[in-house]
Amino acid sequence: MWEHLQSECNNCTRCGLCKTRNNVVFGVGVRDADIMFIGEGPGEQEDLQGEPFVGAAGKFLDDMLSIIGVNRKNCYIANIVKCRPPGNRDPLDEEQEACIGYLRKQVELIKPQIIVCLGRVAARRIIYPDYRITRDHGTWICRNGTWMTAIYHPSALLRDVSKRPETFADLLSIEEKLREVHANMQERSV
Ligand code: URA
Repeated sequence: MWEHLQSECNNCTRCGLCKTRNNVVFGVGVRDADIMFIGEGPGEQEDLQGEPFVGAAGKFLDDMLSIIGVNRKNCYIANIVKCRPPGNRDPLDEEQEACIGYLRKQVELIKPQIIVCLGRVAARRIIYPDYRITRDHGTWICRNGTWMTAIYHPSALLRDVSKRPETFADLLSIEEKLREVHANMQERSV
């Protein structure tokens, strides 16, 4: 199933981004992760290396996740679009529409307990269309048994350090939610 999905994605020509990509950036992490992080789309380094969040923003993301005991071996990281939008522009609606099916299948297979959107683009696509990241970050909704929230995009946090204290609070809230879902899972297994 995964192999089929990944090979379909690697050969995808559903939108124009296929013409300028070096690599499809499918996702990284474990396939039974309890927590999944979703960014907007690959940047230059991700396009060159074929892995999400490996540039400067990615290093910052890794640092943030380490605060709450999360790393690439116990979570899953993917993007709304799997190919780099030229010049790092926001992915167009039609590009998101063409690509979102891959992400939906990834979510179906992983069945994460928690989804964390990284930035406005992912939050608007996944949580609700008029999501306002400055107002709504760190709030939780539960949809079909999956808890969802968003934090500022790591690139925004690199640019604007004044947003970091709020994000630290959001990270602690994510850590607390992870603890909560683990406790519930344990309760159900005894
Ligand atoms: N920004 C994103 O949204 N995703 C990446 O993979 C890298 C940078």
